[in-house]
Amino acid sequence: MSLKNVLALTASLGLLASGAAHADDLQALADEINANLEAAGLNYRAEYAEILTTNDVSEAAVMRFFNDRGNKQLPADFVPGDTRRGWSSPDANTLTWTRDAQNTLDVSPAAQSAAVANAMATWESQKCSALGLTGGDIAAITGVLLGQSGPTADVMHNGFYPAGLFGPSTLAVTVTFIFINPDTSPTDINGDGLPDTAFREIYYNDGFGWATGGGNIDIETVALHEAGHGLSQAHFGTAFLDSGGGKLHFAPRAVMNAAYSGIQHDIKGTDKGGHCSLWGDWPNN
Ligand SMILES: [Zn+2]
Repeated sequence: MSLKNVLALTASLGLLASGAAHADDLQALADEINANLEAAGLNYRAEYAEILTTNDVSEAAVMRFFNDRGNKQLPADFVPGDTRRGWSSPDANTLTWTRDAQNTLDVSPAAQSAAVANAMATWESQKCSALGLTGGDIAAITGVLLGQSGPTADVMHNGFYPAGLFGPSTLAVTVTFIFINPDTSPTDINGDGLPDTAFREIYYNDGFGWATGGGNIDIETVALHEAGHGLSQAHFGTAFLDSGGGKLHFAPRAVMNAAYSGIQHDIKGTDKGGHCSLWGDWPNN
């Protein structure tokens, strides 16, 4: 969807003001953590974020760039065998994930755990790719963006946080950290023209009624979408309002649509196409 269409839709929904506020909050977080990472002499930075909302496509369709680098040749890709990813194992030719299991949701810990594990298994089970995804729950509170930990995996599900962190209509956000050179330019050690992904972090908004297996917002559906970002996929599909003017729809419907539209536990054709083009040659690309 073009920026012009996004703005038109945004105006019709009356959401422009709230959308601007969310971006400012996230930018402030990124600025703060990037300054801290620089002071600590670390070689990665928060670079961009993708946001999933209930109905506000102005937020979701536009990738948020934290650092003005003069070009937008993102998204970034993981590099196979990249030994800088010390949180990957055993040789950075396979990918790792973690889930911060600490929260006070009204959903059983076992059901939450299964929902995220199912989402990761769905991507792992795609026959075109061999990611070697391994991971699971982690006892510690994790989160580099929030200054709570160092990276614990390539893809981190960092738990549920108050709505004030990201904005009231934001369901979840995936933040991409990339490796940088000493001059802070992005590294590209495999020469594919893309910045090298260090790790990705997923944060969920606890201001919604989360659930598993129906009702409210389905955890596995959102985890599957965010994990798609974790594995380098961008948003896909055109958003439109139905003839009644109330409800948001997408064509084609896909896990990687930019807003939540009900339970989706299976990878659709466009999701599969995007995934296979990114990962079909891994780790030999
Ligand atoms: Zn998204």
